[in-house]
Amino acid sequence: MPARTQQEIVARLQQVRAGGEDLYGFQEEVLLPALDFDHARPFLHPSVTRTKWRQTVDLESQARAYLEFAIDKIIDHRSNSAWRSTVKLAELAWLLGRDDVVAAMHAAGYPCYGAPKVKAFADGFGWRFADGLGWRLAETVEDRQPRRALIRMAQGRQCDPAGCQRGCAD
Ligand SMILES: [Zn+2]
Repeated sequence: MPARTQQEIVARLQQVRAGGEDLYGFQEEVLLPALDFDHARPFLHPSVTRTKWRQTVDLESQARAYLEFAIDKIIDHRSNSAWRSTVKLAELAWLLGRDDVVAAMHAAGYPCYGAPKVKAFADGFGWRFADGLGWRLAETVEDRQPRRALIRMAQGRQCDPAGCQRGCAD
């Protein structure tokens, strides 16, 4: 899986900062740690020294963990966290060199806490989406409900066929 060069990441960070769209710094939170100290330094507070700097090297593990986080927030109907997740996942897909996944997420739109975008991310990498709920839940009859809800939400439908009371329709 081709990853971006340090120079490409620096260029993207500069572009993100100049664009002014990353209001809460979510993209930067993903991009900056992907740099080594020498490339990150111009973006860092002077108090961050070489010995303090921790570069994220294993981006794939980070992306897999973040996907689980995102699914959790969708099921829990946590709008702010879910939105942050989609922004960060798109940035991780870019870092991992997957412009096709970025494009699929962009095309997916944002109903139902970004569930279609997050599914596009999981599908693009071939990672588990609704089938991966085992990490979150034991396999019992009751646990089928969140799985069904997630599948519905990824189709842009309310989590509950009887109507969602928690915000899907907002
Ligand atoms: Zn709902």
